[in-house]
Amino acid sequence: MRLGTSAGDLSGVTMYSSMEPCTSRRSAPATCCDLIIAAGIGRVVLALPEPPTFVKCVGIAMLSGVGIEVVTVPELAAEVMAINAALLEVPAIPGTAEAT
Ligand SMILES: [Zn+2]
Repeated sequence: MRLGTSAGDLSGVTMYSSMEPCTSRRSAPATCCDLIIAAGIGRVVLALPEPPTFVKCVGIAMLSGVGIEVVTVPELAAEVMAINAALLEVPAIPGTAEAT
């Protein structure tokens, strides 16, 4: 994720993400949530909370905690998991058709 600092007022902007923005990472100094908060984005829409495959992520709580509106679209979560199947070896999400 890359955001410039001169983008102006982004409080009215909605960011769409297939997965929950990260709150920890090894490869860059700033997490997606840090960048979203610093940019002043007002609303984030996502389909799939981060599975615990790689990192413990608390992006939804972090963004909500600073007043950013977070909307999840769980009906798209199965598609996001399917697209990322090569990366995600995770059990089905409770409440989805694949859950057992
Ligand atoms: Zn990230």
